[in-house]
Amino acid sequence: MITDTTLNQEDVSTKTEKASSSVSRRMFVGATALASAGFLGASAWGQDRSEQKAGRTPPSSSDPGPENQPLLKENPDSNMPPFTDHGNPGPVWFSFDLAPKRMQGGGWTHQVTQRELPSSKDIAGVNMRLTSGSFRELHWHTADEWAIMLTGKARVSVMQPDGKMFIDDLGPGDLWYFPAGFPHSIQGLADDGCEFLLVFDEGAFSEDDTFLLSEFLAHTSPEIVQKNTNWTREAWDKLPATELYIFEAPLPDTLEADRHFLGANLETKNKYTFRMGSMPATTSTPGGEVRIVDSSNFPVSLNIAAAMVTLKPGAIREMHWHPNVSEWQYWIKGTGRMTVVTTGAKARTMDFNANDVGFVPTMAGHSIENTGTEDVVFLEMFKTGRYQDVSLNQWIARMPDKMAEAHLKLAASTIRMAPQSKELVIKASPTS
Ligand code: MN
Ligand code: MN
Repeated sequence: MITDTTLNQEDVSTKTEKASSSVSRRMFVGATALASAGFLGASAWGQDRSEQKAGRTPPSSSDPGPENQPLLKENPDSNMPPFTDHGNPGPVWFSFDLAPKRMQGGGWTHQVTQRELPSSKDIAGVNMRLTSGSFRELHWHTADEWAIMLTGKARVSVMQPDGKMFIDDLGPGDLWYFPAGFPHSIQGLADDGCEFLLVFDEGAFSEDDTFLLSEFLAHTSPEIVQKNTNWTREAWDKLPATELYIFEAPLPDTLEADRHFLGANLETKNKYTFRMGSMPATTSTPGGEVRIVDSSNFPVSLNIAAAMVTLKPGAIREMHWHPNVSEWQYWIKGTGRMTVVTTGAKARTMDFNANDVGFVPTMAGHSIENTGTEDVVFLEMFKTGRYQDVSLNQWIARMPDKMAEAHLKLAASTIRMAPQSKELVIKASPTS
């Protein structure tokens, strides 16, 4: 398994070997060359961080051995971290583009769970594609399911234990939420089916371990099925003997026709879908926008909350943390960088691209910067019914002058130059 922790450990050992071979070469060259190469000062280099603060490169930073250039180019901060990084707070990155696809007639799926990103114990993610007409087989599971449409169109249905069924059609930016145990379906519609992201409130969830309509029937004796359904033994023999999972099927009738079929059994009170893409921004600043969807505006979403963040080039998602839960991210668009700071002075910076997954441990301080030239769009996902965050700027703004000065070792006049409220997104400063 490739995790960013293992990559990092390899990086560290490789660097150490290269550093020692570089040292022996230099010793062979002689003392004058050593002095000109800056080696004599190396033992003290950066111990008080003065060299790093001045932006100087360590004299030992050359890397003459093998390198995976595409990986280095994509994640420079992982390989050569900012000088403020320290220790190892655990893996904070994975990518769906490293996760093997399960290919089926009708589509594919792959997942980033606790198996791929071991620190993510609260949330697992699945990315799925269904071609036009194809079904994700009728099923249910132990976790709650939150989903966002990435492309195309889909029809979803979910039945409540009271026998009422909700059915709706969805397009890009639309959400659905299915509580654990409620049986549901997803079908790709014309012209090109759909692709979507599923988020489950169990880190160890696996898309390969769901309860399936086909398996319930195939593994109950024909006599019981016959008594239960009045179907003949010949009919039982025709039922699927193994799972269908993802499979091709004819396109459905119109949504109106399917709703008409349900009649009084159509669920209309509880809404299991939500138009996140077209909702007004919860917060909008010159640096970007944040849309928050949780049980306060999407009432069925009792155990999963979401924030969709848009960052303009150079803007940051402000320094903050979440007081109630860890954060699982899905990057939809753009290029950025996140720094996570945990207890014991542990800090890690990673770069992110579209289709990457990020993780922030519960309570850990973090910030995200758009390092590219186009907008960044990413999702913050939480295993909680209510979104909550704590803003560093807002906290500092609430500190009386003497309290703030004593801790920050700055004059109050300087301290108050910071934003005095929670902005969520802060635009690029004129100097950056
Ligand atoms: Mn499901
Ligand atoms: Mn966050």
